[in-house]
Amino acid sequence: MSKSLQAIRGMNDILPEQTPAWRYLESTLVSLLDGYGYKEIRLPIVEYTELFARGIGEGTDVVDKEMYTFLDRNEESLTLRPEGTAGCVRAVLEHGMTGGGQVQKLWYAGPMFRYEKPQKGRYRQFHQIGVEVFNLPGPDVDAELIVLTARLWQKLGLTDAVTLQLNSLGSSEARGAYREALVAYLQERFEHLDEDSQRRMSTNPLRILDSKIAETQALLVDAPRLHDYLDAESVAHFEGLKARLDAVGIRYEINQKLVRGLDYYSRTAFEWVTDKLGSQGTVCGGGRYDGLITQFGGKPTPGVGFAMGVERLVLLLETLGLLPEELNSPADLYLCAFGEAAELAGLGLAERLRDAIPGVRLLVNSGGGSFKSQFKKADKSGARFALILGEDELAARVVGCKSLRDDAQQETIGWDALPAHLAACLQA
Ligand code: ATP
Ligand code: MG
Repeated sequence: MSKSLQAIRGMNDILPEQTPAWRYLESTLVSLLDGYGYKEIRLPIVEYTELFARGIGEGTDVVDKEMYTFLDRNEESLTLRPEGTAGCVRAVLEHGMTGGGQVQKLWYAGPMFRYEKPQKGRYRQFHQIGVEVFNLPGPDVDAELIVLTARLWQKLGLTDAVTLQLNSLGSSEARGAYREALVAYLQERFEHLDEDSQRRMSTNPLRILDSKIAETQALLVDAPRLHDYLDAESVAHFEGLKARLDAVGIRYEINQKLVRGLDYYSRTAFEWVTDKLGSQGTVCGGGRYDGLITQFGGKPTPGVGFAMGVERLVLLLETLGLLPEELNSPADLYLCAFGEAAELAGLGLAERLRDAIPGVRLLVNSGGGSFKSQFKKADKSGARFALILGEDELAARVVGCKSLRDDAQQETIGWDALPAHLAACLQA
């Protein structure tokens, strides 16, 4: 195929054999979110570039290197959203949803866009399901978010495949003091830092902490420790969070180097990581961002949230063989009809069956064909029963009902008795 007719590198089609896994993951999470009282919000995929520049922050990889930014026909700079939090905050402010201390517990799902180097688990269009909570400052809600994700892992059978990394980033003042100490320490070792980290010294020095370069990590062994700089309130918040996780038996590892990619976090930061996906091991990341909303000109409003990467989770479920078998379960019934009159009658009969047996997966043969060819298609569909409607059956107002899974004798069932008969057969 010529190059112009291929999808953009790093932007994937999700094909029919993959979508059941996606829906399984999404519906499992969505029903959980319903159960915890979270409401869905749907947000635009494109926003003014400034939203992300202000919300995520210059000096972050996302803003500096990864955004899909373009001018529209009106010469306005727009950006395909690289993440969901900034747009969600914009929306709640725009609609006055957080005024007067109103609590919001929201979730969204959809594609995000980042110009990254595509590889397994890292794409240019990828999908997140994200959750944001506004106006709840305490550690109880941080804990709720983590408990909810832990329940998702349990439902999916992933509990043993993921671990929780936890950190507190303190207040922005505390972080500022720590940043100074870290910069002073690293300044003395500047020439030993990798190039990226050297650049980050002036833009976003805390990001150096999660550098993947071994030499840089070695330099950091004796670096000042973030938790020596935490303010008392942040310490109390962190203790409150840990106490709650302990109370429900959620294990965590404290990782003082976990600073997260985006700049707006304060206090709680967490990631769920797996060692089953190579270096793209973070499947869910989140934290508190109490300072973000003022950055958008809103009144001080606590916020906390997380986003999970759908591709990585699907990959993980596939890798571990955790997708339920019935996901690709084929049809229940396949209706074969021979001749125009039978086809017409078959159409009505099929609709009556759909009325009578909720959720039935009934394929009606399309495109005509001989008995042999229709029966072959019925067999290939994986349906449990073929329904046969020819001229004789039509005249007698019956259908032939043949099991495709065993050698049971074909039965002849009257139209009126058919729905109850099939419902019983399918339950068996
Ligand atoms: P990473 O360190 O892997 O780049 P991140 O810190 O940039 O992740 P976040 O911005 O926190 O990621 O996004 C939340 C989640 O979205 C990640 O934990 C991951 O599961 C997923 N994710 C992020 N970027 C990508 C991508 N390019 N392709 C696929 N999934 C991604
Ligand atoms: Mg990233």
